Amino acid sequence: MAKKFFVGVDVGGTKIAAGLVTPRGEIIGWEKASTPRAKSAGEVMKVIVRAVRDVISDAGLKPRRLRGIGIGVPGLVDAKTGKVLVAPNIPIAGYPIAAELERRFGVPAAIGNDVNLGVLGESWRGSGRGVDDFVGIFPGTGVGGGVVSGGRLLLGANGAAAELGHVVLDPAGPKCGCGARGCLEAYASRTAIERDIRAGVKAGEKTDIVALNGGGLEQIKSKVLARALRHRDPLVTRVLRAAAERLGDGCVSIRHCFDPELFVLGGGVIEACGDFILPIVKRRLAADPLFKKIGPCKVTRSRLGDDAVVLGAVALARERR
Ligand SMILES: [Zn+2]
Repeated sequence: MAKKFFVGVDVGGTKIAAGLVTPRGEIIGWEKASTPRAKSAGEVMKVIVRAVRDVISDAGLKPRRLRGIGIGVPGLVDAKTGKVLVAPNIPIAGYPIAAELERRFGVPAAIGNDVNLGVLGESWRGSGRGVDDFVGIFPGTGVGGGVVSGGRLLLGANGAAAELGHVVLDPAGPKCGCGARGCLEAYASRTAIERDIRAGVKAGEKTDIVALNGGGLEQIKSKVLARALRHRDPLVTRVLRAAAERLGDGCVSIRHCFDPELFVLGGGVIEACGDFILPIVKRRLAADPLFKKIGPCKVTRSRLGDDAVVLGAVALARERR
């Protein structure tokens, strides 16, 4: 009998990526498209359907060999109904994406929060493989997180568990995108790092970051941060050290909640600057007086990078079929 395949879809604010995946978790084809800007859910759905169809046909496969579809979306997903409850950056809230895909392709479809599915992907094929208790943290524009506890992805009562970026480190701290103050995200996201670098430049701190970043500071790419670290730029080093320390403080509190064996850190900033950040996070965890006696907690990088969400979506689809 011919082998069957899955499709995993990563629906992002700027792009939609569909991966053709074997039952063992090998990605054998990709289809990528831009997310329609400020359009209706129907427009977004059209792009998703086209991406799924194309990734199958480009591989020369017949649609009947499709076994299931998984979708990761940047929003709050009701785990029971599969309904997208909230999606701040994309107009899909309330739209029955999974049901629509099932209708179109005639196979089971499962949907989940993209960061949670990224952690599920790491659990299936990445750095969390074979680890029953681990936490994933992904500093990017925000700080996303996910928790695998007892071998299962933690979803909570509303599917909203593991918003680790909004662990409050200081109620009087800087304003966070969520409206609260002093969240981990307000210290350790790339947005927060950029904010602190801009403030340092404005205050006249010694730095070459403006030149390294091509003359402006509107957006600072992770690889520019890495280059500044290599140049021992005093401002960038100070800001990244502070962000890493706060990330470590967050990990200490998160460890108290979930007692993980391992933290998996990922995202652009970690990919570019992980050699600098990870040792600082490890030191913070090692200095924790409460869990000192339990012994050290491992900290490692995400192994899957951009593949994590697609693989996690397929992992979810495999569970549901
Ligand atoms: Zn927050």
